[in-house]
Amino acid sequence: MEAFVIGSGPNGLTAAIVLARAGLTVTVLEAQPTIGGSARSAELTLPGFIHDICSAVHPLAAASPAFATMPLADHGLTWIHPPIPVAHPLDGEGAVAADVSIETTAARLGPDADNYRRIVTPLVARWRELLADILAPPHLPAHPLLLARFGLLALPSAAGIARKLFRGEAARALFAGMAAHSILPLDMRGSAAVGWVLALAAHAAGWPIPRGGSQRISDALASYFQSLGGAIHTNHEVRSIGELPAAALILCDVTPRQLLRIADGRLPDSYCRTLERYRYGPGVFKIDWALSAPIPWLLPDCARAGTVHLGGTLCEIATSERAAWNGESCERPFVLLSQPSLFDSSRAPAGRHTAWAYCHVPQASTEDRTAHIESQVERFAPGFHRTILARRTMSPAQLESHNANLVGGDISGGAATLGQLFLRPTASLYRTPSPNLFLCSASTPPGAGVHGMCGYHAAARALRVR
Ligand SMILES: Cc1cc2nc3c(=O)[nH]c(=O)nc-3n(C[C@H](O)[C@H](O)[C@H](O)COP(=O)(O)OP(=O)(O)OC[C@H]3O[C@@H](n4cnc5c(N)ncnc54)[C@H](O)[C@@H]3O)c2cc1C
Repeated sequence: MEAFVIGSGPNGLTAAIVLARAGLTVTVLEAQPTIGGSARSAELTLPGFIHDICSAVHPLAAASPAFATMPLADHGLTWIHPPIPVAHPLDGEGAVAADVSIETTAARLGPDADNYRRIVTPLVARWRELLADILAPPHLPAHPLLLARFGLLALPSAAGIARKLFRGEAARALFAGMAAHSILPLDMRGSAAVGWVLALAAHAAGWPIPRGGSQRISDALASYFQSLGGAIHTNHEVRSIGELPAAALILCDVTPRQLLRIADGRLPDSYCRTLERYRYGPGVFKIDWALSAPIPWLLPDCARAGTVHLGGTLCEIATSERAAWNGESCERPFVLLSQPSLFDSSRAPAGRHTAWAYCHVPQASTEDRTAHIESQVERFAPGFHRTILARRTMSPAQLESHNANLVGGDISGGAATLGQLFLRPTASLYRTPSPNLFLCSASTPPGAGVHGMCGYHAAARALRVR
């Protein structure tokens, strides 16, 4: 049987691999000149400085059950583990950090040390089992008690659970930084889920970066896919599904808005109306820097961390995330920063460095956030400005023109509210009413991140019903 995958993001490539392994003749069609969707790298600033255009840090890729079935190391993928996954500086109080060691992390959390240890230790011990249930579409869990224990922590709001479980500012801030990756207001139910997944991942699998940048993940997936006989065509935007053979199986690594555009009348009105109601979340404003030196952090832990969360207290981070959700500007945005060249010398010329950062902004915002992001870095690393050799910024609109799936700058393929987390983008998940047509992007369960699990489950469903 012939199959086409529209889009070569991590989910598209994973779906293509699953179909090719089942013996189908598979072609991936990619609109952009290069493969990888939001997992691509390029010299965005100066020659010799390799920047991750979108994804940079990959706890979920390293732990992905789908990627674990693939010989990606044989196809050039090497993981680098920075000594500290995440550091989180606090004004005048030092830094908290999610170290790989639970003990070292807890030791910084003062009055909350015992509580933190008690909560995360049993979940980290059974991380693989837990992850398999979390990174799957709604199903009868293989480990119901374990999942229930996780659910009690994950379903509340991040701010609510942090205030309930932790007394000190350090633990609350550390957890708020993790939970803000959800791009939800931290007082919204369900916003804690991403925070716990990322905190557990830091201890269980680390937050690694791929040597050479995120493009290497895409290149390894593509190389493995091609070794299975698959074909990839770049610069091929599918404008209508009608362009493809009627009998072929089609998996779309696109979000609902693009599916509606290319569906060619194959979808009934009721399904289209449900897709039209699908909600996109806030956007991001991103900066890549070429630097003359490492970032001059005040606190040494920040220089040993792959990722640094810049936003101070739970209250400050919650204000920033609420503003982006409400469509408002925020004076002190929560900034997520990665500094890969400290751990991977292939990313910048000798002695020079790269850094990557973004903050959440309202959907499709046109506001330039450069000064706000840089002043958050300067706050915890005075003198940072003097190290900047060049910068490249990307607004929500520029992100969307880089990858059409980034609607209004939304990097999650749609808001991860409780309503859209499990039944994503509709109750029929990967399936559409058209028998040969499936969705396989981050707009399906389990949602955003470079892990390939949406593509993996979509392809498995498609094979079952074909
Ligand atoms: C700025 C940013 C930072 C991020 N940081 C991280 C991070 O550090 N770690 C992490 O795990 N995740 C991160 N993510 C999220 C992660 O990159 C995405 O969740 C993931 O890439 C989604 O994969 P996907 O395959 O669903 O879609 P995408 O990666 O979005 O790929 C979709 C592909 O489909 C193509 N396409 C769309 N329409 C068509 C068409 N009509 N015809 C042909 N091709 C088409 C697009 O060009 C694109 O290549 C980040 C994302 C962004 C944007």
